[in-house]
Amino acid sequence: MSDNPRIAIIGAGPVGFEAALLCASRKVNFAWFERGNPGQHLLMWGHLATHGPFGSLVSKAGMEALQSASLTEWLPAMDSPATGKSWVDGYLFPLSETPALSGKLRAGVDVIGAARSDVLREDDDRSGNFVLHLRESSGESAIEVPAVIDCTGVHAQPRPMGRGGISAPGEAACRDRICYIIEDILGADRPKYAGKSIVVVGAGVSAATAVLLLAELAREEQATWVTWLFRRDETMPVKRRPRDPLAGRDAIAAAANHIAARGTGNIECHGGSWVDSIRPGQNNQGLLVSAVRGGESRVFEADRVVSLCGYQPSRQFTRELRLPMDPVLDLPPTGLPSDAGISPGPPAIEPRWYSIGSKSYGRATDFSVATGYKQAALVLAREFDSRPKGWLRAS
Ligand SMILES: Cc1cc2nc3c(=O)[nH]c(=O)nc-3n(C[C@H](O)[C@H](O)[C@H](O)COP(=O)(O)OP(=O)(O)OC[C@H]3O[C@@H](n4cnc5c(N)ncnc54)[C@H](O)[C@@H]3O)c2cc1C
Repeated sequence: MSDNPRIAIIGAGPVGFEAALLCASRKVNFAWFERGNPGQHLLMWGHLATHGPFGSLVSKAGMEALQSASLTEWLPAMDSPATGKSWVDGYLFPLSETPALSGKLRAGVDVIGAARSDVLREDDDRSGNFVLHLRESSGESAIEVPAVIDCTGVHAQPRPMGRGGISAPGEAACRDRICYIIEDILGADRPKYAGKSIVVVGAGVSAATAVLLLAELAREEQATWVTWLFRRDETMPVKRRPRDPLAGRDAIAAAANHIAARGTGNIECHGGSWVDSIRPGQNNQGLLVSAVRGGESRVFEADRVVSLCGYQPSRQFTRELRLPMDPVLDLPPTGLPSDAGISPGPPAIEPRWYSIGSKSYGRATDFSVATGYKQAALVLAREFDSRPKGWLRAS
């Protein structure tokens, strides 16, 4: 292998791992960066069950690498859901110890900027190397690479909870009492919730999961009070997919809709509500969440707010690239030929930059890692198999 990396991978979630495995199996020299630790985003919800069985979360390349290194003993059972943590401990971490990947990941390196080396976005020559600006605890540096696979996911960018999807006035100032992930409500984080007044905002599967956990907590700790605010003025606010392939996800949606429709002891539901503002309570105790519904304003007291209004891809570090986002769902171009399932975003105009994994689905919620694994294989084939004439055109 030559010393210079032929491609860089950003992110060490399941899809970044797959891209790295496929590079290693082709003996392609690659550089690989992760802002936190392997599986950082999965660990944000490590205590929760996956929506599908563990067997749907692994790839052929991953299983072969673990088997040939005799590192299969930590794998969770294939036919039932795992947890986010066991996905990392049983699959990603052992993969990082296989001969193919050992020592390859640079963890703790945040990619904070990306551009074409020595040309501006306005310049039409898009054939040169990329330059990546890296930040880690020891300092900053830059690296040049001919191609990049961006697998940075969406979980680091929660969408704000205010009207029309912008931040509510006061949301940033009250950040220390607002949570944008599903904490371990029944376990390690229980003291933040038990016996407290909690406002939950949103009606996706994440918000539904939080409401179900809080309902269980309220059965055990009866002073717990939950106010659930969501924008759809419907008794069944959580959208269900017809014939949802992820049975766990559909069960969560159905159970939360049951609560919204029928009510339950300590949970009050307010459909058709938008959060209007958030401010600290008297003497800085708790929060006052103001919500509008049909022109009427109402204030709810809360000790903590759980805001689960979805996630979105980062545009920040790629802003000097030509990466037009789909205007509705924030889908970036994958860099692969258009295909509604595999490559849902707009056509690429920045050759050899690939945005794959959950990032490629933007704000949409129907991504599954099996799609990310296929995308990684297609990128590798496109970059390193014999290139058809005109391959430099992105799609
Ligand atoms: C409760 C729950 C259950 C789920 N169940 C399933 C399921 O059954 N099946 C399924 O397919 N999906 C499931 N998911 C979704 C799953 O989390 C995603 O499919 C998966 O994480 C996508 O992997 P990814 O590699 O694309 O991105 P991520 O896992 O989000 O990884 C992105 C990585 O990039 C790193 N990163 C971000 N920005 C930078 C940067 N600038 N520089 C360096 N590194 C960076 C992050 O730290 C992170 O490690 C579930 C999610 C939840 C919350």
